[in-house]
Amino acid sequence: KVIYNLQNISKTYSDKTVLDIDSLTIRKGEILGLVGPSGAGKSTLLRILNFIEHTDSGEVHFLGKVYNKDSLPDLHTRRKVTTVFQRPYLMTSSVYQNIIYPLKIRKQNYDSQRVEKIINKLGLTQLKNQRADKLSGGEAQRVSLARALIFNPEVILLDEPTSNLDPANVKIIEDMIADYRNEFNATVVMVTHNVFQAKRLATKVSLLYKGKIVEINDKDEFFTNP
Ligand code: ADP
Ligand code: ADP
Repeated sequence: KVIYNLQNISKTYSDKTVLDIDSLTIRKGEILGLVGPSGAGKSTLLRILNFIEHTDSGEVHFLGKVYNKDSLPDLHTRRKVTTVFQRPYLMTSSVYQNIIYPLKIRKQNYDSQRVEKIINKLGLTQLKNQRADKLSGGEAQRVSLARALIFNPEVILLDEPTSNLDPANVKIIEDMIADYRNEFNATVVMVTHNVFQAKRLATKVSLLYKGKIVEINDKDEFFTNP
């Protein structure tokens, strides 16, 4: 099942074309690793996949509907996609309140056992009542991931989710992403500077350079090609 299909997408900032993609298809259950040097357009692509940003031209097919520079999906559809940023945006309230915040603003009923399970799996049980703005970087990123997964997004976009984290935190976060994807056949797009991370997690890898997709391949082919 095709989740995203991008056709002739471009994005230009003040006369500089930072993204220029002829075609990109992302299928259900894939973990697509986006690699490439700084400035290649990886974050811009994520913002387009998250509908934070309009394209300047081309079409984004998402879950069977077509969007372009003049149209974005409705809120209900946009909420099928969630993004975890490199620096988590947490509020000063408790860890628990931060995690359930998206459910509360959506006035969505939730299964508190599932919330507890995610909290537990991310090693946050002891931290539930602590203030979220006093956490270490690794703890904060785990809270951010819990908050993203709690409402069962169909698509998760991750922008350098583990940069600057220690190996123990990296492992917890990577395991959570892999398990979530396996449990729900969710679709994941992950920007990473870390080629080893792409090797560990991705099913497919794409190399971006100067706004273009230079290579996209199944993980094993990507890493064995000369
Ligand atoms: P990457 O994530 O691969 O490092 P980005 O998508 O962040 O690349 O950026 C691609 C290019 O677009 C860079 O040259 C960056 O400076 C430029 N860029 C990104 N966002 C903006 C913006 N809002 N305004 C102007 N230029 C931008
Ligand atoms: P309110 O909706 O009145 O603001 P809260 O936001 O305090 O209520 O809590 C929402 C729900 O989350 C309540 O059912 C509450 O019992 C539960 N809850 C709050 N904090 C925790 C926690 N640290 N551990 C488990 N459940 C919690």
